[in-house]
Amino acid sequence: MEALFESMDQVYGGLDQRLSPLMSEALCGPGCSLCCTGRGSIDINTLEGLRILRYMESLPQDMRVRMRKAVGEDKKKREQERKASCPFLRKNRTCAIYAIRPLVCRRLYSLEPCIEKGPVLHKEAVSLGVGARDELQRLDWNGYSGHISYVIHLFEEPGFRALYESGGFDPSRVMNYGRAHKLVIHRSLHGKK
Ligand code: SF4
Repeated sequence: MEALFESMDQVYGGLDQRLSPLMSEALCGPGCSLCCTGRGSIDINTLEGLRILRYMESLPQDMRVRMRKAVGEDKKKREQERKASCPFLRKNRTCAIYAIRPLVCRRLYSLEPCIEKGPVLHKEAVSLGVGARDELQRLDWNGYSGHISYVIHLFEEPGFRALYESGGFDPSRVMNYGRAHKLVIHRSLHGKK
């Protein structure tokens, strides 16, 4: 998995580099967290989900318990189609997993105030983001994509984590969960490795 995480970081790094000049025109600043609050699905892939999960597991127990609870509450709210902020958004409006935040958070910024209509990006940034997303999905060939708390919970499906970490692929094991949470199967998008 470590080699895959490294490749993922290279994709992040490449995107950051290309987006940097475009983002210099953005209005976003510290504490601006509209993108993290009730703006629809925060889609990540399983590789990103596993890294977040491992990070959570490395935390002291009280923090770990708090984070798990937030993820569980977000999952429940989303299943009930209620509005929910990202479970990793702290009370002070900063990101609790900033260093390992997923691609969806790295590619977003806004050239105009986004309070009413949502973020406005350069067209080039949109296509760079889509390219990086596809690259990650190909890297995560035996994985899935979907809302952040749904993907993190996927690792609790019996047998899934061990199979995934060993590079295995068997969508029949997680079919019910995947369908109920509208998870996308990467292999059905990008074919076999
Ligand atoms: S992971 Fe961090 S940056 Fe991304 S939506 Fe959640 S709080 Fe915001």
